[in-house]
Amino acid sequence: METKEKRNEVKNFINGKFVRNGQKPLNVESPIDGAIVSTLPLSTYADVDQAVQAASKAYKTWSATTIKERSQIFFKYRSLLETHMHELTQLNVLENGKTYGESKAEVEKSMELCEFAVSLPQIVNNEVQEVSSGVECRTERRPIGVVASIAPFNFPIMVPHWTMPNALMLGNTMVMKPSELVPLSVVRIAELLKEAGLPDGVFNVVNGGKEVVESICDHPGIKAVSFVGSTNVAKIVYKRATSNLKRCVALGGAKNHLIVLPDAHLDMTASNVVASMSGCAGQRCMAASVMVGVDKVQHIIDKMVEEAKKIVPGENLGSVISAAAKERIEGYITAAEKAGATILLDGRGAKVAGKEGGYYVGPTIIDHVTLEMSVASEEIFGPVISIIRAKDLDEAIDIENSSNYGNAAAVFTQSGGLAKQVIERASAGMIGVNIGVPVPREPFSFGGWNESKFGVCDITGRSSVEFWTQNKKTTIKWNPEAQTNWMS
Ligand code: NAD
Repeated sequence: METKEKRNEVKNFINGKFVRNGQKPLNVESPIDGAIVSTLPLSTYADVDQAVQAASKAYKTWSATTIKERSQIFFKYRSLLETHMHELTQLNVLENGKTYGESKAEVEKSMELCEFAVSLPQIVNNEVQEVSSGVECRTERRPIGVVASIAPFNFPIMVPHWTMPNALMLGNTMVMKPSELVPLSVVRIAELLKEAGLPDGVFNVVNGGKEVVESICDHPGIKAVSFVGSTNVAKIVYKRATSNLKRCVALGGAKNHLIVLPDAHLDMTASNVVASMSGCAGQRCMAASVMVGVDKVQHIIDKMVEEAKKIVPGENLGSVISAAAKERIEGYITAAEKAGATILLDGRGAKVAGKEGGYYVGPTIIDHVTLEMSVASEEIFGPVISIIRAKDLDEAIDIENSSNYGNAAAVFTQSGGLAKQVIERASAGMIGVNIGVPVPREPFSFGGWNESKFGVCDITGRSSVEFWTQNKKTTIKWNPEAQTNWMS
């Protein structure tokens, strides 16, 4: 894909209209070849305030509509995503650098998230019980008000769909802050929502960086904040939003361990581990980052190297997001090499003909990593896997448990009993058995443990219904002496 086209400046989307703000613009670069494809003005508190005012006004009428009415809009919106699949996919490739197939999968996943959202009328039925004679208790799920969603760069289309369809379907209105690195897809999402019939002010977009995030955390009109991004920023957002008395769920970074046992199916394990570490150029919070090889797994490692050699930057491997990301990832590989690890496959210095300005790192496999090395514990966020050798399953689980993170963990084995031990003892929110990217599908919820998530609820699925609603409890005494007929 070429990036010749220079788009107009990205605008905020407030009250159903694209509006310009007056701040200094930032360049939006395509990581495929380094071309500047757009500019993005950095918004301020005043812009967030404008969006909150619009969302507050819209909340009054939107929250008064029935969930069935709201679902009609999301049925239409979901089919617009399908109609515009190719265009959205290309936009995602342009701004994020992933392959066409990976980008398309993101749009498809977004459609699936909308399918869950339109099923909410079937799920969110309220509770009622006669608790004593003539007395009834009732619980209704009510929306919270104006809510916010802050997104990272790595899934420009999917992550906004983790939050927006459910939050709006449940009667809230929203201010969305996309990553300043990938703001283009959300522009189209806003246009398509409007085309589907979403009333003005229900969904608003404010572009920018840190200042927008801080303003969201501080603004008294925002009742709930969801965040997806790195752990450092997740901590800042969680502390700031909750200290301002908002509810908050903040998903952070990851360091996912795949435990490979000697009885694992050779071909399936090698291809799965390699796909997990290199898909989306390793820029997935569910990517395999450490493989814990238990006992005699050399045959699996050899096969992994063979598989990984088939992954070619610019062909079936996309770019990483920026020059800084490439430098950081390559720095980790160099540090591991200096610390005595063995580089079995080296992705440093990757170049793609015709896209010399792009940011590519080839698949990298590092063996004999020890726990003191930075590649063993820090999030690299590139197509790199570190292999740590363990003598038995207990040691492997101890290694997994020693991570500060806890997004995903997986085990590759043909033994049900050993797999069950990992399911029970791994300290992670999402576990895979013979699956390298164990993302739960709706209606199951997505969310990690430890420093991979702060807050109580998960961000998708049934658990998100808790997050985006508050319970209204009503106790009613029905008068048994009441007339049964108005005229009698
Ligand atoms: P990031 O934390 O740098 O940015 C996320 C958002 O926070 C962006 O919108 C950004 O503008 C804003 N931001 C950045 N620095 C800030 C600061 N100092 N104060 C306030 N706001 C700030 O994350 P990223 O680089 O865009 O995304 C990659 C990270 O996201 C990785 O760590 C990855 O693991 C994580 N991630 C986690 C999940 C998950 O489900 N746990 C999913 C996707 C990505």
